[in-house]
Amino acid sequence: MIHIDRKEDCCGCGACANVCPKNCIQMTADKEGFLYPNINKDTCVDCGLCEKVCPEINVEPDTPKVQKAFLVQNKDEQVLSESTSGGFFTAIAECVLENDGVVFGAAFDENFYVKHTFVDNKKELYRFRNSKYVQSDTNDSYKLVEKVLKEDKLVCYSGTPCQIEGLYHYLRKPYDNLILVDVVCRAVPSPLLWEKYLELQSKKQSKHIDNIKFRDKNPYGYRYSQLGIYSFGEQIYNKGVESDQYLRAFFSNICDRPSCYKCNYRKRYRVSDFTIWDCFEVYKYDKKLDNNKGVTRVLLQTKKAETLFYKLEDKLTFVEIEPEKLINNFKEMFNSPAEHERRDSFFEDINTMDIKDCLDKYYPNNVKIAAMKFMRQTMCKIGIYDFVKKSAKKFLKK
Ligand SMILES: Cc1cc2nc3c(=O)[nH]c(=O)nc-3n(C[C@H](O)[C@H](O)[C@H](O)COP(=O)(O)OP(=O)(O)OC[C@H]3O[C@@H](n4cnc5c(N)ncnc54)[C@H](O)[C@@H]3O)c2cc1C
Repeated sequence: MIHIDRKEDCCGCGACANVCPKNCIQMTADKEGFLYPNINKDTCVDCGLCEKVCPEINVEPDTPKVQKAFLVQNKDEQVLSESTSGGFFTAIAECVLENDGVVFGAAFDENFYVKHTFVDNKKELYRFRNSKYVQSDTNDSYKLVEKVLKEDKLVCYSGTPCQIEGLYHYLRKPYDNLILVDVVCRAVPSPLLWEKYLELQSKKQSKHIDNIKFRDKNPYGYRYSQLGIYSFGEQIYNKGVESDQYLRAFFSNICDRPSCYKCNYRKRYRVSDFTIWDCFEVYKYDKKLDNNKGVTRVLLQTKKAETLFYKLEDKLTFVEIEPEKLINNFKEMFNSPAEHERRDSFFEDINTMDIKDCLDKYYPNNVKIAAMKFMRQTMCKIGIYDFVKKSAKKFLKK
């Protein structure tokens, strides 16, 4: 039976719990809010299936294959504005739904808990748009995928690379009617931190919160997307990566799942059909897409992906790029983040301190932060943010 000695050896995909024929594996949250398998030894029959499907035990090699690469922007302005980058995911999802298929992805529930669910109509697709910077709970989604695949329906499943390899191993055989989409992933933050941050925001805003975007393009566009909070359609909070305390925690690698610091899924050649990620430096490749509305980098990993990609032509503005150029040593594709030296004390404090005091201790709102926020916003307002960012990148040769 599966046995987790070191937390870093479990990515929390839930393949083991989904496959267990006796339902004796429950995914249970630890002190940091991350899910791990909890096995009922009394009902376990030691069939070994949980170990057979574990993507951490059965690591897939990075074996070269033919790839194609594109920069993509969705032609639908609303989809584009709601999506994290270029809205490529929605284009695939719509095509699957137009062919009577089912789309799985990460969505908020009514309490803003992030979990994998499915939709079978375009009206609900908005729920998957925009990256949720918190680990999603895959719950019983792998079992559901298998059921729908066996009904001969087309299925698209999107998620982090570990979740995609988890599903791939869970299924144990290829399906022609399955399309796998993985997002290049920096790391997944703690659901416990997210829950506490939400409590804090609910208190501070004292308004009903009905939508949250981790990457809100309103009001400054794609290059300075911020965490935006909404009440009845009105934006009531927006702060960027320099000033929002949750984003600051995420981007300083203090709140990630332990397995993210030694991630086995950072590689070029993946089990998915499509690998998708951001492209902030689109000006390096193409002028016409450089409009601050968002561009998705798309790497086609299979022939199936290539066939599907050309069916999406009407929905997209795109340019083909050499795969090497598109990847260009993109660090989140290949390197795990370095764990923050104060990670342990941060999680101890989250569990013992008031969340406001805890965030103020590690991420104080001081004059320097206020000045950085002011500078960025002013540069955006007078229209020089892009120019300054591009020049800084050129100067630093990034
Ligand atoms: C946790 C996380 C970290 C990321 N880190 C990076 C990075 O470091 N660099 C980079 O270039 N890109 C990163 N991305 C990918 C990027 O944010 C966009 O998802 C990508 O550019 C595709 O955008 P889109 O506009 O085509 O699709 P979108 O409309 O944004 O949809 C993308 C898909 O992401 C899935 N998704 C959203 N949140 C989660 C989640 N918590 N877990 C699993 N799946 C989820 C949804 O199911 C949806 O199908 C990350 C994404 C996530 C979720």
